[in-house]
Amino acid sequence: YKAKQTGRNNFQFYQDPSSDLTDKVMVQDLEKAIINNELFLVYQPKYNLATKELNSVEALIRWQHPTRGLISPLEFIHLAEDNNLIIPITMWVLEKVCIQLKDWCVKGYKKVPISVNISAKHLEKGTLVEDVKKIINSTNTNPECLMLEITESVMISNPSLAIETIHELKELGMKIAIDDFGTGFSSLSYLLKLPVDILKLDKSFIGELSDRKNMSFVDAIVKLAHNLDLSVVAEGIETEQQHQILNQYGCDFGQGYFYSKPLISNQLVKSFLENDEL
Ligand code: C2E
Ligand code: CA
Ligand code: CA
Ligand code: CA
Repeated sequence: YKAKQTGRNNFQFYQDPSSDLTDKVMVQDLEKAIINNELFLVYQPKYNLATKELNSVEALIRWQHPTRGLISPLEFIHLAEDNNLIIPITMWVLEKVCIQLKDWCVKGYKKVPISVNISAKHLEKGTLVEDVKKIINSTNTNPECLMLEITESVMISNPSLAIETIHELKELGMKIAIDDFGTGFSSLSYLLKLPVDILKLDKSFIGELSDRKNMSFVDAIVKLAHNLDLSVVAEGIETEQQHQILNQYGCDFGQGYFYSKPLISNQLVKSFLENDEL
């Protein structure tokens, strides 16, 4: 707490003095970030646990702020969502990803699908399908090279819109993943209604895999997903032991520092795409 002098000998106490102001300034800065070319993408590999081959990559956004340095999406995506900036930012990400796909393709690198994080807010706006179509058409991208990651929270806020939207996206040829699975406190039964392809187990479950209850939870989720014809990605795999356990459970794909940190395009190409014959 800090004291703020509002008049003569008149002090007011307020919590976290910088946050409101900082948020306002951050939002103003974020509005300019796209034009000023301050946003960039990193790509994190997802591995096929059984074959140990690269399966796809996830695009993760970064903000190189001119004075504050590198800012994590955990610090600005929620601000974007609350200030009508999430759609322009997502459009920027989608376009960058489509251009990247084409660039890798032209250079003859290994073909690897890219997944993009979609905010639940975007889906709730009702323009997601047309927005995605716009980018796919303007960049002439094969939708089968794109995957979208959407959190399960949309299933609570507007299940019928979520189901319809995901159906339409799938008709375009894209794969859809449920992101942060297990953290949304929603009923599992939505999995029966949602035509998704992939379930991404949140890293909070993987971090505590040594715990017996967590292990049986993960084991059961993998079985359930497979019975529903979904494949499973575990995120946040940091150790050999976690890798072994998930592989034993039959988890399909893994993502995490154990395999690779998120990489800028050039590094990804050097380490994963270049030497791999098609
Ligand atoms: P997420 O979708 O759950 O992404 C996974 C996060 O886990 C990423 O954090 C990634 O860098 C981190 N991670 C990967 N491997 C490990 C590991 O082994 N251990 C640990 N502890 N963490 C690992 P990041 O890049 O900071 O992104 C945070 C969140 O921000 C993402 O969580 C996603 O919800 C959001 N986000 C990132 N990029 C975008 C974007 O382009 N659009 C939207 N709407 N959201 C984004
Ligand atoms: Ca994600
Ligand atoms: Ca997560
Ligand atoms: Ca997420």
